[in-house]
Amino acid sequence: MVFDAGSSHTSLFIYQWPTDKENNTGVVSQTLVCDVEGPGISSYSNDPPGAGRSLVPCLDKAMSIIPVESQKAAPAYLGATAGMRLLELENETKTQQIFDEVSKTLSRYPVKFQGARILEGEEEGSLGWVTVNYLLGTFIRYSYVYSWIHPKQSEMFGAMDLGGASTQMTFQPSGEIEDKSTETTFRLYGYDYTIYTHSYLCYGQDQALKRLLVRLIEKRGSGNVQHPCYPKGYMANVSLSSVYNSPCILTPPDNTEVSVTVEGTGDPTACQRSVREIFNLTACTNLSCSFNGVYQPPVYGKFYAFSAFYYTFNFLNLTCGQSLAEANSTIWEYCSREWTQLTSSFPSESRRRLLEYCSSAMYILTLLLDGYKFNSGTWEDIHFAKQAGNADVGWTLGYMLNLTNMIPSEEPSLLMAHDY
Ligand code: AMP
Repeated sequence: MVFDAGSSHTSLFIYQWPTDKENNTGVVSQTLVCDVEGPGISSYSNDPPGAGRSLVPCLDKAMSIIPVESQKAAPAYLGATAGMRLLELENETKTQQIFDEVSKTLSRYPVKFQGARILEGEEEGSLGWVTVNYLLGTFIRYSYVYSWIHPKQSEMFGAMDLGGASTQMTFQPSGEIEDKSTETTFRLYGYDYTIYTHSYLCYGQDQALKRLLVRLIEKRGSGNVQHPCYPKGYMANVSLSSVYNSPCILTPPDNTEVSVTVEGTGDPTACQRSVREIFNLTACTNLSCSFNGVYQPPVYGKFYAFSAFYYTFNFLNLTCGQSLAEANSTIWEYCSREWTQLTSSFPSESRRRLLEYCSSAMYILTLLLDGYKFNSGTWEDIHFAKQAGNADVGWTLGYMLNLTNMIPSEEPSLLMAHDY
């Protein structure tokens, strides 16, 4: 059991595998995903026991699925990502209280609870990469001529994860990794892998859009805040305290007890210009650099883009291998629609999501093109997906495989029962 305690929500994943077989690829399957009701655990800083309580319905569901005789041996983990990384920067005591409470709740269940902790951003990135390549069978495959085959290293998939508070870029570059602080090595099934990974805190979707709003608020004259990524016809009062409530925003005003009126102008070109401003695109002077002066070798190989990359592009029907030109025109078209037209075209979609799909799609385009330096050619190498094989793509499967020693460092020598 692995709880993914993200910034905006928590999900519980249950994986299953036969314990009477040797470690091998392809044996693990995802049995259950349970979405915890309510916000991410970092939102419970003023009610830490509430974070523990929020996990109960999913834990109860898990107990109804895991056979009673297997429960005692079932390892259970909780990993928290950037929401808790940000809270830790603000208030270590509250962070600890939340971990104490979720641990207390988990300990009440008859499973082998192995602890709750914050994952480093680099860990989150590299475990997402392990998950993708495990599920796609790129580490090792068993051939029908009774031998193990290692696919070419160039066939490894990169992994791009977009959460609410951070985003991770991970891949195996074609050349050497010059900045060793971005390098991670693995020995899996007898082969060494050297990957590049970087996690950008405050560049998750929610934090990025918050920073965009802050820039627009700070730019306003005496009138309403003009938001070019919100549709024409949309208008709302926004309290500054709901915007200036994150360590990703460095300069809060003296008084946040006031509201501003935000008005959509539905202008994709101006939206793109504003989104670009939340990146420092001039800090990089050479090709091995993304943005904000962060080292990144040139992108190489095929990529899986998941989490919020997938959600937004799926809503816009852009997950079926559309070209960059098609993606651009779809996003431009969506960003030009009026608010009444959007709400009547998509009555069942939440209003918050409808409002933000233009901003998030523009953010994704900017991150991938101006940030990571994909172009119209390499765009075709990006696969936007939620799942690979029959499991969700994210860090949780990689975390579980790693902690339960399911991926041996040397090549398996025996034939596995499931290969017959
Ligand atoms: P996290 O909670 O850190 O994993 O972040 C997930 C991100 O995906 C957040 O920005 C969410 O707002 C966003 N998200 C989650 N579910 C959906 C959905 N169904 N449609 C659009 N965005 C989503």
